[in-house]
Amino acid sequence: MSNSTAPIHESAALLYASTDFAKLNWLELQWAAWYLWIDNPIIATGLMSFLLHEIVYFGRCLPWVIIDATPYFRKWKLQPNKIPTAQEQWECTKQVLFSHFTIELPAIYLFHPMAEFFGMSTWQVPFPPLSSIIPQVAFFFVFEDMFHFFAHRALHWGPLYKHIHKVHHKYSAPFGLAAEYAHPAEVFILGTGTLAGPLLYCAFRRDLHIFTVYIWIVLRLFQAVDAHSGYDFPWSLQHILPFWSGAEHHDFHHMAFVNNFSTSFRWCDRFFGTDNKYREYRARIEAAKKAGMSPEEFKAMEKKFAEDAEREGIEAEKVVEAYRYSLKTKAA
Ligand SMILES: [Zn+2]
Ligand SMILES: [Zn+2]
Repeated sequence: MSNSTAPIHESAALLYASTDFAKLNWLELQWAAWYLWIDNPIIATGLMSFLLHEIVYFGRCLPWVIIDATPYFRKWKLQPNKIPTAQEQWECTKQVLFSHFTIELPAIYLFHPMAEFFGMSTWQVPFPPLSSIIPQVAFFFVFEDMFHFFAHRALHWGPLYKHIHKVHHKYSAPFGLAAEYAHPAEVFILGTGTLAGPLLYCAFRRDLHIFTVYIWIVLRLFQAVDAHSGYDFPWSLQHILPFWSGAEHHDFHHMAFVNNFSTSFRWCDRFFGTDNKYREYRARIEAAKKAGMSPEEFKAMEKKFAEDAEREGIEAEKVVEAYRYSLKTKAA
């Protein structure tokens, strides 16, 4: 590696001293080139993780911003009377960027040491085969969904709601950019669900590559942004995989404040009965569809159902927020 035509810093080059570059595919070569270029694995892993998050999150939000600005798509909007304004979206973007740059960016120095501590591969190439990536990512999906279900329910408990989760519920009709609009403590609590799966898996199995974790993070970001998009298309994933939550499921959580605490799947809410109001609401809409109404009558009916659910939600939120007060009255 001391060849003078390749001006590679010794320390980074040492990492790859026994790597056969001829056997690598294009992506693996780019991966190694990144680590060689940055020449500091701590910065290379941290910066790559940060950039991946920014590019995927805002990249995935962009089509939703365009869709919100295009009246043609209104017919698939779950709460069609609530279109986010450009101003609202910009305010939300500024908040999300602020927390990314003040909390996540300084933390990039922790990513590589943490990965090393749990025995995760980072700079190493080649990548693991798809036959190990797929089951690992599937496990992370299931783990995160269950973790999120319980943590999210806990965040709806009076004191936690009032001081932490209320921030995320600012938007009763969410939009893509609102996916990560949350209190820093919530980002930390719910982010644990995304990262604890890989770290635990790695601690026990010691055979995880950060590349697999990145695939998981990309899919998880798509899931989170899409669930907040506010649109349900006939081709949305939940119409193909009936156990997938999608926007239709999470939009109800924001609109009605109760029910639907999971992220990716519908299992937990079904099993613990925290989808009863949501299912009643869907059943009412389905019944109205079959009642032979005119499209105008149906639209008016649908609007009424949504308003009822939202009104009940506002009451439910008041009850949660009054928690401390009710403790006092009980004590008195
Ligand atoms: Zn919530
Ligand atoms: Zn949400």
